[in-house]
Amino acid sequence: MIDAGERTKQGAAPSTKRSCAVARREILDRIQKYVDPFRIRKGKGFRLKGFDPGDTCGLQLGKGEAAELLARGTQWLAEEQDMLYAQDRWSLLLVFQAMDAAGKDGTIKHVMSGVNPQGCQVFSFKQPSREDLDHDFMWRYVKCLPERGRIGIFNRSYYEEVLVVRVHDEILKRQRLPPQSVSKRIWDQRLADIAHFESYLTRQGTIILKFFLHVSRAEQKKRFVQRLERPQKHWKFSSADIRERGFWADYMDAFEEAIRATATQHAPWFVVPADNKWFTRLVVAAAIVEAVEKLELSYPVIDAAKKKELAAARAALAREK
Ligand code: ATP
Ligand code: MG
Repeated sequence: MIDAGERTKQGAAPSTKRSCAVARREILDRIQKYVDPFRIRKGKGFRLKGFDPGDTCGLQLGKGEAAELLARGTQWLAEEQDMLYAQDRWSLLLVFQAMDAAGKDGTIKHVMSGVNPQGCQVFSFKQPSREDLDHDFMWRYVKCLPERGRIGIFNRSYYEEVLVVRVHDEILKRQRLPPQSVSKRIWDQRLADIAHFESYLTRQGTIILKFFLHVSRAEQKKRFVQRLERPQKHWKFSSADIRERGFWADYMDAFEEAIRATATQHAPWFVVPADNKWFTRLVVAAAIVEAVEKLELSYPVIDAAKKKELAAARAALAREK
């Protein structure tokens, strides 16, 4: 008899499990080269300048490799998520940050396409409400953290507190902080708070991956123009987006400092090239698959009492007419 601990999700026998392991190893080797160049584990000295938003690692979508890898990656993630849920020990927090039109929504949609919606929650953080502003800055994000066994996606996140809030003074004023908290050191202090918070979450079993979808200013313009030209995209357009575009350099400085202060081994940043949507999705999927694979998830092994219970249930069903 093969129990749940010895089976793969599809119920394969051990020899099939071995060949699955080889196939997985092979994909892991293949995806590694699309993850490594973009992962920042040590923020000190980080410069955005060396990262090209148009980078595709020499890969061309036409060759089909990207599409195939993405399809396999999303399928793999769906399988892993089932085990993550069954194991109920880890949670996964995926943070997405970007300038407008960098493709956050589309990336989340594609990468999570095969995942069981019950094990996955997406939260989009917009401007804070009055109730949010009556609390400390982390309050609204903490409420949305994923439970054990789940994948939580933050479409924008607590990083807005050191990005848009840093770029616009008036937003900070709305937070009504005590005067002694608003000094020149506020951004370093906030970044240190975020870094500590992420260390804390990691120790609690949350795996944190942070994605900065790095779009170029020229590509953003192209996408805005397309939104204005296509009636079915008009709903996506907001003149606030054009206004924010005017603060591009300030945002890039703020991103650079955020990554510098918070990229760590346990909560790495990925500076994902975002001028080619297919490549963005591939890198994000590959990074998630790689991180989850490291957990070496498996279905919980059942104990003797549970085995006895299953045998009794089988026997009871067999006795039924
Ligand atoms: P899309 O445009 O694709 O719908 P989006 O994430 O840009 O997605 P919007 O409703 O356009 O959503 O924008 C949300 C706005 O809320 C952004 O301008 C963002 O900077 C702002 N925002 C998010 N968090 C905060 C915050 N903590 N304080 C102030 N503004 C914030
Ligand atoms: Mg927007």
